[in-house]
Amino acid sequence: MHALRTSRQDPIRAEQSPTKNGLLSVLPASRREALLAAADFVSLDADAVLMTAGQPIQFVHLLEAGTAALVGAEDSLRGVDLVLVGPENVVGIGLVLGQAVPQHGAVMRIAGHGHRIPRRRFEDALVDMPDLCDACLRHAALLLDHALQAAGCNAQHRLVPRLARWILEVCDRGGEDELTITHERLAKALGVRRAGVTMALHELEGRRYIRSTRCRLTVRDRAALTACACPCYTRMGARAAAELEFACG
Ligand SMILES: [Zn+2]
Repeated sequence: MHALRTSRQDPIRAEQSPTKNGLLSVLPASRREALLAAADFVSLDADAVLMTAGQPIQFVHLLEAGTAALVGAEDSLRGVDLVLVGPENVVGIGLVLGQAVPQHGAVMRIAGHGHRIPRRRFEDALVDMPDLCDACLRHAALLLDHALQAAGCNAQHRLVPRLARWILEVCDRGGEDELTITHERLAKALGVRRAGVTMALHELEGRRYIRSTRCRLTVRDRAALTACACPCYTRMGARAAAELEFACG
């Protein structure tokens, strides 16, 4: 576990600061406060392990920034990104479906920070707060939709549009047009060889959509990169926005 700078969440500060986490943002303030009273606020480095396949979940993570990946655990899928989870959802949401021992791992792909809640405290909160349970079920459905879309994307869409989609999604989750990642890690994220990622980055850079160095990507032309991205980018974004609208509407 690479969590750093852990500190007990200050409920007053949390109430004053608008959260960027999808689950927290749809909860009434009193519910949010009650849940965060059990949380630590943690910074999470890239590659920090949040869950390990086959081992009981210890903590649920509600990210405020950064991006985690649910990763395969066996054979050729070991360490390969299956679906991304950022502030729009919860790492460990399978608990609401009774899955205390996940079949996949979770690692931070892009460093960030968020709220870490011990599993037992989160399970108790699900029992005590039916509206939290309902919100978690809807977020579990949201994650399922994202995973299904990602499966179709990986099978059907070309690497350059997939890479454009990936860059935009991760930048959106971080709230910046810059991200730190090596070509090697990016290759693992996309499930392709490093040489392929390097060629795809060169293509996007040649069109002046991005700037790429050994471990840093910068979006130069967001509109053009969005037009280049596969349709999964707008579909996944619309799905997450609809979830938020449903809860707040
Ligand atoms: Zn796609």
